[in-house]
Amino acid sequence: MAFGETTRISNTESYSSSSYVPYIERTRSQRPIAVSQLLMDDRGNAILDSLGTKMVHMIEPYLQTVKLDKEQVLFQEEGALDVVYFPLTAVISEFRSLEDGRMVEIAVTGNEGAIGLSSVLSGSSIAHNYTQVSQEGTVRTIRVSQIERLLQSNDALRYTLGRHTDVYIRQISQKAICNMYHCVKERLCTWLLMVQDRSGRSKMSLTHEQISRILGVNRPSVSKMAHELQESNLIRYSRGKVKIQDRERVENAACACYFELGGTAGALLN
Ligand SMILES: [Zn+2]
Repeated sequence: MAFGETTRISNTESYSSSSYVPYIERTRSQRPIAVSQLLMDDRGNAILDSLGTKMVHMIEPYLQTVKLDKEQVLFQEEGALDVVYFPLTAVISEFRSLEDGRMVEIAVTGNEGAIGLSSVLSGSSIAHNYTQVSQEGTVRTIRVSQIERLLQSNDALRYTLGRHTDVYIRQISQKAICNMYHCVKERLCTWLLMVQDRSGRSKMSLTHEQISRILGVNRPSVSKMAHELQESNLIRYSRGKVKIQDRERVENAACACYFELGGTAGALLN
């Protein structure tokens, strides 16, 4: 069902997170296709941009720019970690699964962060979370074996990249609070703002299924909530595309997590 489609439900039905939640269909991990030339993209990655000239010269030869498709699976939970991703315009979600197969989003990363870096820095070659592209776009990649070699001989690079780990932990901690205590409408508004900041796009590609999975609520609840937001002129949606219509009001409707996590891409590293 596209995001713009609505399902009529009873007024008494609540935005329950305890009822049916769709499962993610596990698929084989897909790998990005490298483009032959670096894509010209004026959006950088905050972590790569924070490196000094010497470190940039060291790491640049090993970076590739690739395009990721929407809903492309990068890692399975507890799967092998062989690539680190530094998003440029792509937005990537990480999920943890419950015993019954339901998924909960624990982090959303755009050009302020990286995917897989914290595992590398901790000496692990395991991707701990199910990782999937939320918004298609470009990323820069480096093979884990290569970045490990660079880290062995450069403490400054390890220190600079290590700052991301703290940012990453902060986001996961805040998401735990958000998932537990904030209502679905607040969480959706926070998520829309975070994704818009990280993708740099005015329109986001979203389906009810995707929102349901991210927020951990059933699809009728998502439909009702999306309808309410559109009726209030906070968002516009059609054909699976969502546009924030009134950013100030969406910020007012979001939970404090949006500001705790850094409102704009790059703010987390400041
Ligand atoms: Zn929250």
